[in-house]
Amino acid sequence: MPTRRRALQQIGLATGAAALAPWSYCQARPQSSQGKLGVALVGLGYYSTDLLAPALQQTEHCYLAGIVTGTPSKVPAWQRRYGIPDENVYDYDNFDRIADNPAIDVVYVVLPNSMHAEYTIRAARAGKHVWCEKPMALDTAECQAMIDACAQHRVSLALGYRMQHEPNTQQLMAFATGKPYGLTQLVTAAAGFKGNFQGDPRPWRTRRAMGGGAMYDMGVYSLQAARYTIGEEPLWVNAQHQVLRPEIFDEVDETTLFQLTFPRGAVAQCTTSFGINVNYLHVTYADGWARLDPFSSYRDVGGEASEGRLLTPWTGNQQARQMDDDALALKQGRATRVPGEEGLRDIRVLEAVYQSAREGRPVKV
Ligand code: NAD
Repeated sequence: MPTRRRALQQIGLATGAAALAPWSYCQARPQSSQGKLGVALVGLGYYSTDLLAPALQQTEHCYLAGIVTGTPSKVPAWQRRYGIPDENVYDYDNFDRIADNPAIDVVYVVLPNSMHAEYTIRAARAGKHVWCEKPMALDTAECQAMIDACAQHRVSLALGYRMQHEPNTQQLMAFATGKPYGLTQLVTAAAGFKGNFQGDPRPWRTRRAMGGGAMYDMGVYSLQAARYTIGEEPLWVNAQHQVLRPEIFDEVDETTLFQLTFPRGAVAQCTTSFGINVNYLHVTYADGWARLDPFSSYRDVGGEASEGRLLTPWTGNQQARQMDDDALALKQGRATRVPGEEGLRDIRVLEAVYQSAREGRPVKV
């Protein structure tokens, strides 16, 4: 019997062969004494430092076991704060040795977008499950290579789309499938913030080669919202860029507007920006409506829907919920909620958005 499955059965979590995803046949690895999966964060920038590491102090099914960083000066403070032993600290050169470390079950890639593919593939080759931040990668070829590497090495790949784990967002996803208000007809989604993007060197979010640009960073929230509130894949994209600060945005988009049309006639009007503070989602159904405002914040996502239905702001920790959902799925040998294929679908549309804006015409996805 495959070792992983045997291990899962020993801890009473196996769910039967039919329910097991291909990666569940990978090598068994010890878990921490509390039965939690060990997570190693790769890249100790803003999101790891301010959101993910604190959230991992609240998770039930996983814990912060290791770090991977190219900045040695960060290591002592992280080790002190989170009790990370020397043997679970890696840099980008010796990262592949993580294969030999049984304390690490999951590698969470939290690097600039252009580095997601390389570190996902290296983690998969090391036999570790991968959580990868959004956007998945620069293009569909990279996304496919990531999916293939994880399949080949029988590890799971989950995207860090935290909204898909958020309860009010899940309610809107349920409206798309259950159709209490009929078919979705119109979606208006806007996700952006005004940043100054100063610095030397220039922040990677302004660099094309690093996967910078509003569409890659925040546009995927608007795009995801259109896709999960309609429950279909877009057919056509029409997009426009706007740059008001060319001294900063000389390589990437500052603001992108994009319109999507869907197979059953729904349309989405999406906005994303590095220059406008905007954060709302309005959905019009054949027989009703729903709104989330804010819809992509870390906290207090909430709003209302037809017939006085309140979508009370959810005040829990989204990152903890996301990582617990995904860790529990791994422990139970189930597929995670947001697999690599979901990231690939977005990047396919994103490529069409950029092509449409470049060529000044609608583009078929
Ligand atoms: P950041 O710039 O704060 O951190 C990036 C880290 O990568 C830093 O520790 C930096 O030292 C390291 N790095 C390694 N090589 C680098 C290089 N060549 N150039 C620049 N940095 C390099 O970025 P962040 O805000 O933490 O974003 C990291 C990832 O997390 C991105 O993919 C971003 O989209 C994602 N993110 C997701 C959310 C979310 O809500 N899901 C929120 C913020 C960021």
